[in-house]
Amino acid sequence: MISAWRATRYPENAGYIQAWDDDSWRLLELIGDVGCERFSEELGAARPAAPTDAVIKRRSDAVGAMLTRLSYSDPVHVARGEGVWLVDVDGRRLLDAYNNVPVVGHCHPRVTEAVVRQTRLLNTHARYVYEPLVELAERLLASMPPAARLDSVMFVNSGSEANDIAWRIASGVTGCDGAIVTQHAYHGVTAAIANLSPEEWPEGFDAPHVARIPVDGGGEAVAAAAGGLSEAGHGVAATFIDTGLTSDGIHPLTPERLAAIEGATRRAGGLFVADEVQVGYGRSGEHLWTFAHLGVTPDFVTLGKPMGNGYPVAAVVTRREIVEGFAFARRMFSTFGGNPVAAQAGLAVLDVIRDERIIPHVKHVGELLQLRLGELKTRHDEIVAVRGLGLLVGVQLDDPGRAKAVVDAMRRRGVLIGRTGPNEDVLKIRPPLVFDDEHVAVLLATLAEALDAT
Ligand code: PMP
Repeated sequence: MISAWRATRYPENAGYIQAWDDDSWRLLELIGDVGCERFSEELGAARPAAPTDAVIKRRSDAVGAMLTRLSYSDPVHVARGEGVWLVDVDGRRLLDAYNNVPVVGHCHPRVTEAVVRQTRLLNTHARYVYEPLVELAERLLASMPPAARLDSVMFVNSGSEANDIAWRIASGVTGCDGAIVTQHAYHGVTAAIANLSPEEWPEGFDAPHVARIPVDGGGEAVAAAAGGLSEAGHGVAATFIDTGLTSDGIHPLTPERLAAIEGATRRAGGLFVADEVQVGYGRSGEHLWTFAHLGVTPDFVTLGKPMGNGYPVAAVVTRREIVEGFAFARRMFSTFGGNPVAAQAGLAVLDVIRDERIIPHVKHVGELLQLRLGELKTRHDEIVAVRGLGLLVGVQLDDPGRAKAVVDAMRRRGVLIGRTGPNEDVLKIRPPLVFDDEHVAVLLATLAEALDAT
C-alpha cells in the first residue's frame, strides 16, 4: 500500500519505489500462513490469558500432588498487582487484604526498579565482594535493639531456610535435639522445620522431639515442655516463636508472656528464636521488629517473606559468639542467598519503609481497622473475638463453615482475605502495609455484606 501510494505521487521514481514489492508480498503471505496470533507472539507481544479452568486443570495435573490447594472456591487468576490491588485476567480489581509479602505494596516502583537495574548490571553470589550485601547486613544489624547484641547476618532464600539454619546452629551448639513451639505453629517446609510446624502435621503424625505450648501458655508451659523433652533424652535446643501466633489463630503475645517464654527457655538451656517472617518489617506498627517492641533479646531472628517485597530473600541474624561454637561455622553457603539483586531488593524495601513512614502509618490504620471491626462485632453475634497486632488482625467467627463462606463471599465481592487457626474459624486480615483508611472502609462494608449473606 505504501509503495503504491508513493508510486502515484512520484511516478518518475516508480521503478525504484516498487523494487521490493515482490519481497513484501512474500513476507505478507508468510505472516498470513503463520497466523496473526503466532506472529504477534514471535514479536514478543503478550499472550492472551488462557481460560482459567484450563490453567487450573494443567496446574492440578502438573504440580497438584505436591503443591498446596488454591485459595478460594473461585480461584483468582491474577494478571498484575499495584499497591493494595490485584488485577485479574478479566481486568477486575481485587482489594488485597491478605498478602504480607508485598509489604510496601505490589510491584512498588522503587523495588522493581532496584531489581531491574541490578539484574541488567550483574547477578552473582556471596563469594565475591559486592557492597549491597554488606550494606544490607549492616542496616539490618543497626535496626536490631542493641540489648540483643545481634552482630551476624547470613542471607538465604526463604523463611524456611532461615529457620532451618537457626535450628541447625541451635542444635549444634547446645548438643540437644528438642524443640518447643506453639500448639499450631508454622515455621517452614524443610525436613527439619516441617517437624517444628504442627500446623502442617497430617492426622496421627507426631514428632517426639517437639513439645508444644498452648496459645495462652507462658513460662510454666515452657518449663513443663522442657521437662518432658529432658526426660525423653532430647533436651531443649531452641524455642521458636512467631510472636503474632499467626497460624495458631492470631493471638499476639504480650511482653510479659513472651519474656516468660524466653526466660524459661534459657533456664532449660535452650536458645530463643524470634521468627519475624510474619510479624517483621513493621507489621506491628510499633517497630521494624515485633520482638523488639515486645522487649525480648533473642539468640536468633529469622526474616523472610516481606524482605524483598516478593523477590526471594531471607536472613538469619544471630551473635558471632553463638556461631563460633558451631562446628560448621564459616562453612555455610547458599548460592542465591543475598545475591546482588536480592540485596538491592532488600535495601529498596528498607528505604521505602523509612521514606514513606510506613511504621506510623501501620499504627494508625491498624488501630482504625481494629476499632471498626470491634464496632462490627457489637452488631454481629457470629463474631466471637477480634485480635490484632498492627495490620495482622484475626476475626474469630462462631463456626469454621461460616468463616469459609465469608472468605468466599468477600472474594466474589472483590476483597481478598484468608483463614487461620486450628479450626480455620479465624478470618485472617494481613494486607500490604500501604493499606489505607479508604481500604478499611471497603473491607468493612464488604465484610458486613458477606456476614449478612452467609
Ligand atoms: N515462619 C513463619 C512464621 C511463616 O509464616 C512462614 C511462611 N508462612 C515461614 C516461616 C516459612 O517461610 P517460607 O515460606 O518463605 O519458607
